[in-house]
Amino acid sequence: MSDYHRCPNCGHKPDSWGASHMEIYRCDDCGTEFCHRCPGSNGGRECPRCRSRRFRTNGKCYAK
Ligand SMILES: [Zn+2]
Ligand SMILES: [Zn+2]
Repeated sequence: MSDYHRCPNCGHKPDSWGASHMEIYRCDDCGTEFCHRCPGSNGGRECPRCRSRRFRTNGKCYAK
């Protein structure tokens, strides 16, 4: 598990008014790291690059 300060793909940061962290996923097929806010990720249900639904949580992104 890794810590992030922003999404590696879209640069989104956790909302200061909401949850203090969000999860960062890593696609099993193409290795793209993404979050639920990435355009094309369908709310964190598929990889924004290759549309794979095989991914796992790679780390957490904390608001700082
Ligand atoms: Zn992918
Ligand atoms: Zn993102």
